[in-house]
Amino acid sequence: KLHNIIQELKGNIRVFCRVRPLLPNELDEIPEEHIPHIAFPDPDNREVQLMRLSDISLNESSVVGKTKTPVKYDFTFDRVFCPLSNQSEVFDEISQLVQSSLDGYNVCIFAYGQTGSGKTYTMEGPEELDLTLDLDSPCLGMIPRAVQQIFSTEQELQKKGWQYKMDSYFLEIYNEVIHDLLVDSPSDNSVKHEIKMVGKGSELYVTNLTTVIVKTEKRIHQLLKKARKNRAVAATKCNQHSSRSHSVFRIKLSGNNSITGETCEGTLNLVDLAGSERLKDSGSEGQRLEETKNINRSLANLGNVIMALSQKADHIPYRNSKLTHLLMNSLGGNSKVLMFVNVSPKEEHFNETLNSLRFATKVN
Ligand code: ADP
Ligand code: MG
Repeated sequence: KLHNIIQELKGNIRVFCRVRPLLPNELDEIPEEHIPHIAFPDPDNREVQLMRLSDISLNESSVVGKTKTPVKYDFTFDRVFCPLSNQSEVFDEISQLVQSSLDGYNVCIFAYGQTGSGKTYTMEGPEELDLTLDLDSPCLGMIPRAVQQIFSTEQELQKKGWQYKMDSYFLEIYNEVIHDLLVDSPSDNSVKHEIKMVGKGSELYVTNLTTVIVKTEKRIHQLLKKARKNRAVAATKCNQHSSRSHSVFRIKLSGNNSITGETCEGTLNLVDLAGSERLKDSGSEGQRLEETKNINRSLANLGNVIMALSQKADHIPYRNSKLTHLLMNSLGGNSKVLMFVNVSPKEEHFNETLNSLRFATKVN
């Protein structure tokens, strides 16, 4: 109850932290006397604690020497998922949000974190999963689960007179340039995509973008698979491609009720962000340097936008990056935002994990 009240005061921005498990090959590398550096002290699953064992010099009259004293960093989020949490437990916590998109809200769900922290696993599922066949896999990620829920809820709502038109796009923002992930030939670079406004209204659209009207769940699964394939093609040209781009899957839900005459329009945006690892400018030049700057800038700007929204600031800097510009209508106003901060349990990733948790605390 108290949590709900706090939530209301805070507005519609939530942050969930998810710590992935160690992978089988990573487990082999752990020495026997290993002390875990991530702890979950809170039985209500809202806290995560990082510990760094550091050498501290004692220089008092009687003791001179070194001792190992852990330095602790505590973080509180709306929910923390430990490595044992499975996809279905995670989805349980977002299903309300997915429901909101059918009720006419604009919903944005982001996955933020360094490369290898589990963003794509959380959003889609493991790489080996076939998004058109393995539909009852326990590893299915949030996107296919959200789609399943939308279709089953829609059937329920039909009994009450609601009919929904759903259309969907899947795009990628790489180096501040939009790429359509639902095209047949992904290599065609001559097609330019710009963000434009519909008439004088506030609704945005992207020029030349494939938008698919979806009537069946199966159709969405085909789209997801196609997008994945198109991303893989891009990755063969630059193997860092997917970790350096944001991907945005959107479903727009326009409902109208034949009994009551009501209408509603909501959207669900699911965003797999570019890796948040600090990229060093030094050593890279030209195209690479520009890319690095663009990623750092757009993630920082996303943080600034979310922070400005939660502080109800007068000016929200949407237009400082393609991603926030694109999502403008789904971030402010009648909207709900959730950010997953994904972290790796590996000790060598300590500093990146600390950075991610700090970023997430700032926007929360
Ligand atoms: P990212 O998209 O952030 O770069 P991935 O989602 O590709 O990271 O995850 C990195 C690796 O960890 C993949 O092999 C993925 O299958 C695995 N992984 C991530 N999260 C989990 C999890 N919760 N349970 C099991 N394996 C996971
Ligand atoms: Mg990924």
